[in-house]
Amino acid sequence: MAQDTADCAQPLTVLAEDELIFRDSVREFAVARVRPLVREMDEHAKIARALIDQLFELGVMGIEVPEVYGGAGGRFFHSVLAVEELSRVDPSVGVLVDVQNTLVINAFLKWGNDDVKRRYLPKLAAGTVGAYALSEAGSGSDAFALSARAREDGDHFVIGGRKLWITNGNEADLFIVFATIKPEAGYRGITAFLVERGFPGFTVGKKEDKLGIRASSTCELILEECRVPRTNVLGEPGQGYKVAIETLNEGRIGIGAQMLGLAEGALEHAVKYTKERKQFGKAIAEFQGVQFQLARAAVDVETAKLTVYNAARLRDAGRPFLTEAAICKILSSEVAERVSSLAVNLFGGNGFVKEYPVEKLFRDAKIGQIYEGTSNLQLQTIAKQLMSWP
Ligand SMILES: Cc1cc2nc3c(=O)[nH]c(=O)nc-3n(C[C@H](O)[C@H](O)[C@H](O)COP(=O)(O)OP(=O)(O)OC[C@H]3O[C@@H](n4cnc5c(N)ncnc54)[C@H](O)[C@@H]3O)c2cc1C
Repeated sequence: MAQDTADCAQPLTVLAEDELIFRDSVREFAVARVRPLVREMDEHAKIARALIDQLFELGVMGIEVPEVYGGAGGRFFHSVLAVEELSRVDPSVGVLVDVQNTLVINAFLKWGNDDVKRRYLPKLAAGTVGAYALSEAGSGSDAFALSARAREDGDHFVIGGRKLWITNGNEADLFIVFATIKPEAGYRGITAFLVERGFPGFTVGKKEDKLGIRASSTCELILEECRVPRTNVLGEPGQGYKVAIETLNEGRIGIGAQMLGLAEGALEHAVKYTKERKQFGKAIAEFQGVQFQLARAAVDVETAKLTVYNAARLRDAGRPFLTEAAICKILSSEVAERVSSLAVNLFGGNGFVKEYPVEKLFRDAKIGQIYEGTSNLQLQTIAKQLMSWP
Protein backbone atom coordinates (compact mmCIF):
# COMPACT_ATOMS: atom_id res chain seq x y z
CA MET A 1 0.00 0.00 0.00
CA ALA A 2 1.32 3.51 -0.87
CA GLN A 3 2.77 5.36 2.11
CA ASP A 4 3.10 8.71 0.32
CA THR A 5 0.90 11.23 2.12
CA ALA A 6 0.86 13.38 -1.03
CA ASP A 7 -1.68 10.86 -2.36
CA CYS A 8 -4.04 11.50 0.54
CA ALA A 9 -7.03 13.80 0.21
CA GLN A 10 -6.73 17.00 2.25
CA PRO A 11 -8.73 17.23 5.48
CA LEU A 12 -11.93 19.14 4.69
CA THR A 13 -11.30 21.92 7.18
CA VAL A 14 -7.70 22.62 6.14
CA LEU A 15 -7.71 25.82 4.12
CA ALA A 16 -5.48 26.44 1.12
CA GLU A 17 -3.19 29.48 1.37
CA ASP A 18 -5.52 31.72 -0.68
CA GLU A 19 -8.55 30.53 1.32
CA LEU A 20 -6.80 31.31 4.58
CA ILE A 21 -5.79 34.82 3.53
CA PHE A 22 -9.29 35.49 2.23
CA ARG A 23 -10.96 34.07 5.37
CA ASP A 24 -8.76 36.18 7.64
CA SER A 25 -9.45 39.37 5.69
CA VAL A 26 -13.23 38.84 5.96
CA ARG A 27 -12.91 37.89 9.64
CA GLU A 28 -11.01 41.09 10.41
CA PHE A 29 -13.52 43.15 8.47
CA ALA A 30 -16.46 41.55 10.28
CA VAL A 31 -14.99 42.31 13.69
CA ALA A 32 -13.77 45.83 12.89
CA ARG A 33 -16.51 47.15 10.59
CA VAL A 34 -19.63 45.05 11.11
CA ARG A 35 -19.63 44.33 14.84
CA PRO A 36 -19.94 47.97 15.97
CA LEU A 37 -23.07 48.38 13.80
CA VAL A 38 -24.92 45.13 14.59
CA ARG A 39 -27.27 46.35 17.29
CA GLU A 40 -28.15 49.61 15.54
CA MET A 41 -28.80 47.84 12.21
CA ASP A 42 -31.03 45.29 13.96
CA GLU A 43 -32.98 48.02 15.74
CA HIS A 44 -33.41 50.16 12.62
CA ALA A 45 -34.00 47.09 10.42
CA LYS A 46 -31.55 48.40 7.86
CA ILE A 47 -28.03 47.63 6.66
CA ALA A 48 -26.03 50.85 6.42
CA ARG A 49 -25.29 51.74 2.77
CA ALA A 50 -21.77 52.75 3.77
CA LEU A 51 -21.23 49.20 5.03
CA ILE A 52 -22.49 47.75 1.74
CA ASP A 53 -20.02 49.98 -0.14
CA GLN A 54 -17.24 48.65 2.09
CA LEU A 55 -18.32 45.08 1.30
CA PHE A 56 -17.87 45.88 -2.39
CA GLU A 57 -14.44 47.39 -1.68
CA LEU A 58 -13.46 44.27 0.26
CA GLY A 59 -14.31 42.21 -2.84
CA VAL A 60 -16.98 40.01 -1.25
CA MET A 61 -19.85 41.20 -3.45
CA GLY A 62 -18.37 39.69 -6.62
CA ILE A 63 -16.41 36.73 -5.35
CA GLU A 64 -16.82 34.42 -8.33
CA VAL A 65 -17.01 37.17 -10.94
CA PRO A 66 -14.01 36.66 -13.26
CA GLU A 67 -11.29 39.28 -13.00
CA VAL A 68 -11.91 40.42 -16.60
CA TYR A 69 -15.29 41.68 -15.40
CA GLY A 70 -13.78 43.35 -12.33
CA GLY A 71 -14.51 40.56 -9.83
CA ALA A 72 -12.32 38.62 -7.44
CA GLY A 73 -12.14 35.50 -9.66
CA GLY A 74 -12.66 33.22 -6.65
CA ARG A 75 -14.38 29.89 -6.16
CA PHE A 76 -17.71 28.95 -4.59
CA PHE A 77 -15.82 27.88 -1.47
CA HIS A 78 -14.62 31.47 -1.02
CA SER A 79 -18.26 32.59 -0.99
CA VAL A 80 -19.00 30.04 1.70
CA LEU A 81 -16.10 31.32 3.80
CA ALA A 82 -17.26 34.93 3.41
CA VAL A 83 -20.86 34.10 4.40
CA GLU A 84 -19.65 32.05 7.38
CA GLU A 85 -17.33 34.77 8.68
CA LEU A 86 -19.82 37.60 8.27
CA SER A 87 -22.65 35.55 9.82
CA ARG A 88 -20.50 34.84 12.85
CA VAL A 89 -20.93 38.54 13.60
CA ASP A 90 -24.20 39.38 11.81
CA PRO A 91 -26.26 36.85 9.84
CA SER A 92 -28.12 39.76 8.16
CA VAL A 93 -24.93 40.92 6.51
CA GLY A 94 -24.17 37.25 5.82
CA VAL A 95 -27.36 36.77 3.82
CA LEU A 96 -26.88 39.98 1.82
CA VAL A 97 -23.52 38.66 0.63
CA ASP A 98 -24.91 35.15 0.24
CA VAL A 99 -27.76 36.12 -2.10
CA GLN A 100 -25.44 38.34 -4.16
CA ASN A 101 -22.92 35.55 -4.69
CA THR A 102 -24.49 32.11 -4.40
CA LEU A 103 -27.78 32.97 -6.11
CA VAL A 104 -27.50 36.07 -8.29
CA ILE A 105 -23.92 36.01 -9.59
CA ASN A 106 -23.99 32.23 -9.69
CA ALA A 107 -27.04 32.34 -12.00
CA PHE A 108 -25.35 34.92 -14.26
CA LEU A 109 -22.18 32.85 -14.53
CA LYS A 110 -24.03 29.68 -15.35
CA TRP A 111 -26.85 30.97 -17.54
CA GLY A 112 -25.82 34.37 -18.86
CA ASN A 113 -24.67 34.71 -22.48
CA ASP A 114 -21.65 36.90 -23.29
CA ASP A 115 -23.81 39.98 -23.79
CA VAL A 116 -25.56 39.57 -20.41
CA LYS A 117 -22.28 38.90 -18.63
CA ARG A 118 -20.61 41.94 -20.25
CA ARG A 119 -23.49 44.23 -19.36
CA TYR A 120 -24.14 43.14 -15.78
CA LEU A 121 -21.21 41.34 -14.16
CA PRO A 122 -18.97 44.46 -13.92
CA LYS A 123 -21.85 46.28 -12.21
CA LEU A 124 -22.53 43.42 -9.80
CA ALA A 125 -18.86 43.36 -8.83
CA ALA A 126 -18.64 47.15 -8.43
CA GLY A 127 -21.68 48.47 -6.60
CA THR A 128 -24.95 46.94 -7.80
CA VAL A 129 -26.77 44.74 -5.29
CA GLY A 130 -28.76 41.87 -6.79
CA ALA A 131 -31.89 40.02 -5.65
CA TYR A 132 -33.51 36.74 -6.58
CA ALA A 133 -37.28 36.74 -6.94
CA LEU A 134 -39.00 33.38 -7.16
CA SER A 135 -41.49 33.17 -4.26
CA GLU A 136 -45.04 34.51 -4.36
CA ALA A 137 -47.93 34.62 -1.90
CA GLY A 138 -49.38 31.41 -3.35
CA SER A 139 -46.16 29.63 -4.23
CA GLY A 140 -43.40 29.00 -1.70
CA SER A 141 -42.39 25.37 -1.31
CA ASP A 142 -44.38 24.70 -4.49
CA ALA A 143 -42.19 27.26 -6.24
CA PHE A 144 -43.13 26.39 -9.80
CA ALA A 145 -46.82 27.02 -9.18
CA LEU A 146 -45.99 30.71 -9.59
CA SER A 147 -48.59 32.99 -11.11
CA ALA A 148 -46.46 35.87 -12.47
CA ARG A 149 -47.02 36.03 -16.22
CA ALA A 150 -44.98 37.38 -19.14
CA ARG A 151 -46.18 37.95 -22.71
CA GLU A 152 -44.17 38.79 -25.80
CA ASP A 153 -44.50 42.24 -27.29
CA GLY A 154 -42.06 42.83 -30.16
CA ASP A 155 -38.55 42.88 -28.81
CA HIS A 156 -39.83 43.01 -25.23
CA PHE A 157 -41.59 40.83 -22.70
CA VAL A 158 -44.28 42.41 -20.55
CA ILE A 159 -44.48 41.00 -17.01
CA GLY A 160 -47.38 41.16 -14.56
CA GLY A 161 -47.43 39.74 -11.05
CA ARG A 162 -46.21 40.08 -7.49
CA LYS A 163 -43.25 38.54 -5.75
CA LEU A 164 -43.05 38.13 -2.00
CA TRP A 165 -40.26 37.74 0.59
CA ILE A 166 -37.48 39.06 -1.63
CA THR A 167 -34.18 39.41 0.23
CA ASN A 168 -32.18 42.57 -0.63
CA GLY A 169 -35.37 44.07 -2.11
CA ASN A 170 -34.58 47.47 -0.62
CA GLU A 171 -30.94 47.63 -1.62
CA ALA A 172 -31.02 45.85 -4.99
CA ASP A 173 -30.90 47.54 -8.38
CA LEU A 174 -31.03 44.31 -10.34
CA PHE A 175 -33.57 41.51 -9.86
CA ILE A 176 -33.76 38.02 -11.32
CA VAL A 177 -37.52 37.64 -11.63
CA PHE A 178 -39.19 34.35 -12.49
CA ALA A 179 -42.45 34.42 -14.49
CA THR A 180 -44.15 32.06 -16.89
CA ILE A 181 -44.54 32.75 -20.58
CA LYS A 182 -46.82 29.73 -21.07
CA PRO A 183 -49.00 28.76 -18.08
CA GLU A 184 -50.34 25.72 -19.93
CA ALA A 185 -46.79 24.34 -20.22
CA GLY A 186 -46.44 24.09 -16.42
CA TYR A 187 -42.90 24.44 -15.15
CA ARG A 188 -41.60 24.39 -18.74
CA GLY A 189 -43.01 27.87 -19.29
CA ILE A 190 -41.04 29.44 -16.46
CA THR A 191 -38.52 32.03 -17.59
CA ALA A 192 -35.88 34.05 -15.72
CA PHE A 193 -35.89 37.78 -16.50
CA LEU A 194 -33.33 40.40 -15.57
CA VAL A 195 -35.27 43.39 -14.28
CA GLU A 196 -33.58 46.67 -13.43
CA ARG A 197 -35.10 48.76 -10.67
CA GLY A 198 -35.74 51.60 -13.12
CA PHE A 199 -37.70 49.55 -15.68
CA PRO A 200 -41.21 50.95 -16.28
CA GLY A 201 -43.89 49.06 -14.35
CA PHE A 202 -41.54 47.79 -11.62
CA THR A 203 -41.85 48.86 -7.99
CA VAL A 204 -40.62 47.56 -4.67
CA GLY A 205 -43.56 47.19 -2.28
CA LYS A 206 -43.85 46.72 1.46
CA LYS A 207 -40.92 45.63 3.58
CA GLU A 208 -41.59 42.83 6.10
CA ASP A 209 -41.24 43.40 9.85
CA LYS A 210 -39.46 40.23 10.95
CA LEU A 211 -38.51 38.07 13.94
CA GLY A 212 -34.85 37.77 12.97
CA ILE A 213 -32.27 38.90 10.40
CA ARG A 214 -34.12 42.19 10.79
CA ALA A 215 -31.47 44.31 9.08
CA SER A 216 -31.77 42.21 5.93
CA SER A 217 -34.59 43.66 3.83
CA THR A 218 -37.38 41.29 2.79
CA CYS A 219 -39.72 42.96 0.32
CA GLU A 220 -42.65 42.54 -1.99
CA LEU A 221 -42.05 43.29 -5.68
CA ILE A 222 -44.84 44.59 -7.88
CA LEU A 223 -44.71 44.17 -11.65
CA GLU A 224 -47.46 45.93 -13.60
CA GLU A 225 -47.04 45.82 -17.37
CA CYS A 226 -43.32 45.81 -16.66
CA ARG A 227 -41.41 45.98 -19.95
CA VAL A 228 -38.25 43.91 -20.10
CA PRO A 229 -36.09 43.73 -23.25
CA ARG A 230 -35.90 40.27 -24.83
CA THR A 231 -32.13 40.49 -24.40
CA ASN A 232 -32.75 40.39 -20.64
CA VAL A 233 -33.89 36.79 -20.55
CA LEU A 234 -31.40 34.79 -18.47
CA GLY A 235 -30.83 31.47 -20.25
CA GLU A 236 -33.54 30.63 -22.79
CA PRO A 237 -37.28 31.30 -22.51
CA GLY A 238 -38.81 28.29 -20.75
CA GLN A 239 -35.54 27.37 -19.02
CA GLY A 240 -36.27 29.35 -15.87
CA TYR A 241 -37.07 26.23 -13.86
CA LYS A 242 -33.57 24.93 -14.53
CA VAL A 243 -32.05 28.28 -13.59
CA ALA A 244 -34.02 28.20 -10.32
CA ILE A 245 -33.34 24.56 -9.42
CA GLU A 246 -29.63 24.74 -10.13
CA THR A 247 -28.98 28.01 -8.35
CA LEU A 248 -31.07 27.07 -5.32
CA ASN A 249 -29.26 23.74 -5.01
CA GLU A 250 -26.04 25.69 -4.61
CA GLY A 251 -27.56 28.57 -2.67
CA ARG A 252 -28.59 26.18 0.05
CA ILE A 253 -24.92 25.54 0.84
CA GLY A 254 -24.63 29.30 1.40
CA ILE A 255 -27.48 29.14 3.93
CA GLY A 256 -25.67 26.23 5.58
CA ALA A 257 -22.64 28.56 5.85
CA GLN A 258 -24.78 31.36 7.27
CA MET A 259 -26.15 29.05 9.97
CA LEU A 260 -22.70 27.58 10.66
CA GLY A 261 -21.25 31.07 11.17
CA LEU A 262 -24.15 31.98 13.45
CA ALA A 263 -23.57 28.88 15.60
CA GLU A 264 -19.83 29.60 15.79
CA GLY A 265 -20.53 33.17 16.87
CA ALA A 266 -22.99 32.01 19.56
CA LEU A 267 -20.56 29.41 20.90
CA GLU A 268 -17.73 31.97 21.09
CA HIS A 269 -19.94 34.35 23.06
CA ALA A 270 -21.02 31.52 25.39
CA VAL A 271 -17.46 30.37 26.14
CA LYS A 272 -16.25 33.92 26.78
CA TYR A 273 -19.21 34.84 29.00
CA THR A 274 -19.17 31.67 31.09
CA LYS A 275 -15.46 32.15 31.79
CA GLU A 276 -16.18 35.66 33.10
CA ARG A 277 -19.48 35.26 34.95
CA LYS A 278 -19.05 34.16 38.56
CA GLN A 279 -21.63 32.32 40.69
CA PHE A 280 -21.07 30.22 43.83
CA GLY A 281 -17.64 31.82 44.10
CA LYS A 282 -16.27 30.75 40.72
CA ALA A 283 -16.65 31.19 37.00
CA ILE A 284 -19.71 29.27 35.79
CA ALA A 285 -17.47 27.71 33.08
CA GLU A 286 -15.75 25.83 35.89
CA PHE A 287 -18.86 23.76 36.52
CA GLN A 288 -18.65 20.50 34.63
CA GLY A 289 -22.38 20.74 33.84
CA VAL A 290 -21.70 23.94 31.91
CA GLN A 291 -18.54 22.59 30.27
CA PHE A 292 -20.42 19.55 28.97
CA GLN A 293 -23.10 21.78 27.47
CA LEU A 294 -20.41 23.81 25.71
CA ALA A 295 -18.68 20.63 24.56
CA ARG A 296 -21.96 19.36 23.04
CA ALA A 297 -22.30 22.65 21.19
CA ALA A 298 -18.74 22.25 19.88
CA VAL A 299 -19.68 18.79 18.58
CA ASP A 300 -22.66 20.34 16.81
CA VAL A 301 -20.58 23.14 15.27
CA GLU A 302 -17.87 20.80 14.02
CA THR A 303 -20.43 18.45 12.47
CA ALA A 304 -22.16 21.34 10.71
CA LYS A 305 -18.83 22.65 9.45
CA LEU A 306 -17.87 19.29 7.94
CA THR A 307 -21.15 19.03 6.04
CA VAL A 308 -21.01 22.63 4.77
CA TYR A 309 -17.38 22.44 3.67
CA ASN A 310 -17.91 19.03 2.10
CA ALA A 311 -20.90 20.20 0.05
CA ALA A 312 -19.03 23.34 -1.07
CA ARG A 313 -15.88 21.45 -2.00
CA LEU A 314 -17.92 18.83 -3.91
CA ARG A 315 -19.54 21.66 -5.85
CA ASP A 316 -16.19 23.23 -6.73
CA ALA A 317 -14.84 19.82 -7.75
CA GLY A 318 -17.74 19.39 -10.18
CA ARG A 319 -19.02 16.35 -8.28
CA PRO A 320 -22.70 15.66 -7.44
CA PHE A 321 -23.64 17.52 -4.26
CA LEU A 322 -27.45 17.68 -4.18
CA THR A 323 -28.02 15.42 -1.16
CA GLU A 324 -24.98 16.79 0.67
CA ALA A 325 -26.27 20.36 0.19
CA ALA A 326 -29.66 19.39 1.62
CA ILE A 327 -27.98 17.66 4.56
CA CYS A 328 -25.74 20.64 5.30
CA LYS A 329 -28.65 23.07 5.25
CA ILE A 330 -30.96 21.09 7.50
CA LEU A 331 -28.20 20.19 9.93
CA SER A 332 -26.60 23.63 10.16
CA SER A 333 -29.92 25.39 10.70
CA GLU A 334 -30.84 22.98 13.51
CA VAL A 335 -27.37 23.41 15.03
CA ALA A 336 -27.71 27.20 14.83
CA GLU A 337 -31.01 27.03 16.69
CA ARG A 338 -29.64 24.68 19.37
CA VAL A 339 -26.36 26.49 19.97
CA SER A 340 -27.86 29.98 20.02
CA SER A 341 -30.57 28.74 22.40
CA LEU A 342 -27.89 27.30 24.71
CA ALA A 343 -26.00 30.60 24.55
CA VAL A 344 -29.14 32.43 25.71
CA ASN A 345 -29.49 29.96 28.60
CA LEU A 346 -25.87 30.30 29.65
CA PHE A 347 -26.09 34.10 29.64
CA GLY A 348 -28.96 33.78 32.13
CA GLY A 349 -31.01 36.98 32.37
CA ASN A 350 -28.43 38.73 30.25
CA GLY A 351 -29.22 36.28 27.47
CA PHE A 352 -32.72 37.68 27.26
CA VAL A 353 -31.88 41.33 26.79
CA LYS A 354 -30.67 43.27 23.78
CA GLU A 355 -27.62 44.67 25.53
CA TYR A 356 -25.95 41.28 24.95
CA PRO A 357 -25.50 39.73 21.50
CA VAL A 358 -27.01 36.27 21.89
CA GLU A 359 -30.76 36.98 21.88
CA LYS A 360 -30.34 38.39 18.36
CA LEU A 361 -28.51 35.27 17.17
CA PHE A 362 -31.30 33.14 18.65
CA ARG A 363 -33.89 35.15 16.69
CA ASP A 364 -31.74 35.05 13.55
CA ALA A 365 -31.34 31.27 13.67
CA LYS A 366 -34.98 30.47 12.91
CA ILE A 367 -34.87 31.58 9.28
CA GLY A 368 -32.37 28.86 8.35
CA GLN A 369 -35.13 26.26 8.55
CA ILE A 370 -37.43 28.27 6.31
CA TYR A 371 -35.84 29.97 3.31
CA GLU A 372 -34.27 28.41 0.22
CA GLY A 373 -36.38 25.31 0.84
CA THR A 374 -37.82 24.51 4.27
CA SER A 375 -36.38 21.68 6.33
CA ASN A 376 -39.21 19.42 5.17
CA LEU A 377 -38.23 20.10 1.57
CA GLN A 378 -34.60 19.23 2.39
CA LEU A 379 -35.82 15.97 3.94
CA GLN A 380 -37.76 15.32 0.74
CA THR A 381 -34.54 15.66 -1.30
CA ILE A 382 -32.64 13.36 1.06
CA ALA A 383 -35.49 10.83 1.11
CA LYS A 384 -35.67 10.79 -2.69
CA GLN A 385 -32.03 9.71 -2.71
CA LEU A 386 -32.80 6.93 -0.19
CA MET A 387 -35.73 5.73 -2.26
CA SER A 388 -33.42 5.29 -5.26
CA TRP A 389 -31.43 2.69 -3.34
CA PRO A 390 -31.95 -0.87 -4.57
C1 LIG B 1 -36.78 36.33 5.54
C2 LIG B 1 -37.13 35.63 4.28
C3 LIG B 1 -36.36 35.86 3.14
C4 LIG B 1 -36.69 35.23 1.94
N1 LIG B 1 -35.96 35.52 0.80
C5 LIG B 1 -36.40 35.05 -0.41
C6 LIG B 1 -35.77 35.48 -1.63
O1 LIG B 1 -34.81 36.26 -1.63
N2 LIG B 1 -36.29 35.02 -2.80
C7 LIG B 1 -37.34 34.19 -2.85
O2 LIG B 1 -37.75 33.82 -3.95
N3 LIG B 1 -37.94 33.75 -1.72
C8 LIG B 1 -37.50 34.17 -0.50
N4 LIG B 1 -38.12 33.75 0.65
C9 LIG B 1 -39.25 32.84 0.58
C10 LIG B 1 -38.92 31.46 1.14
O3 LIG B 1 -38.07 30.78 0.29
C11 LIG B 1 -40.26 30.74 1.41
O4 LIG B 1 -40.87 31.39 2.51
C12 LIG B 1 -40.05 29.27 1.68
O5 LIG B 1 -39.65 28.61 0.52
C13 LIG B 1 -41.31 28.61 2.23
O6 LIG B 1 -42.42 28.91 1.46
P1 LIG B 1 -43.76 29.41 2.18
O7 LIG B 1 -43.40 30.55 3.05
O8 LIG B 1 -44.78 29.65 1.13
O9 LIG B 1 -44.19 28.20 3.10
P2 LIG B 1 -45.09 26.96 2.64
O10 LIG B 1 -44.59 26.40 1.35
O11 LIG B 1 -46.52 27.34 2.73
O12 LIG B 1 -44.76 25.91 3.79
C14 LIG B 1 -45.39 25.94 5.07
C15 LIG B 1 -45.04 24.64 5.80
O13 LIG B 1 -45.51 23.51 5.05
C16 LIG B 1 -44.46 22.61 4.85
N5 LIG B 1 -44.63 21.93 3.54
C17 LIG B 1 -44.96 22.51 2.36
N6 LIG B 1 -44.99 21.59 1.39
C18 LIG B 1 -44.65 20.40 1.97
C19 LIG B 1 -44.47 19.07 1.50
N7 LIG B 1 -44.64 18.76 0.21
N8 LIG B 1 -44.13 18.11 2.38
C20 LIG B 1 -43.94 18.41 3.70
N9 LIG B 1 -44.07 19.64 4.19
C21 LIG B 1 -44.41 20.63 3.35
C22 LIG B 1 -43.20 23.44 4.88
O14 LIG B 1 -42.06 22.65 5.19
C23 LIG B 1 -43.52 24.47 5.95
O15 LIG B 1 -43.22 23.92 7.21
C24 LIG B 1 -37.79 34.34 1.88
C25 LIG B 1 -38.55 34.11 3.04
C26 LIG B 1 -38.25 34.75 4.22
C27 LIG B 1 -39.12 34.50 5.42
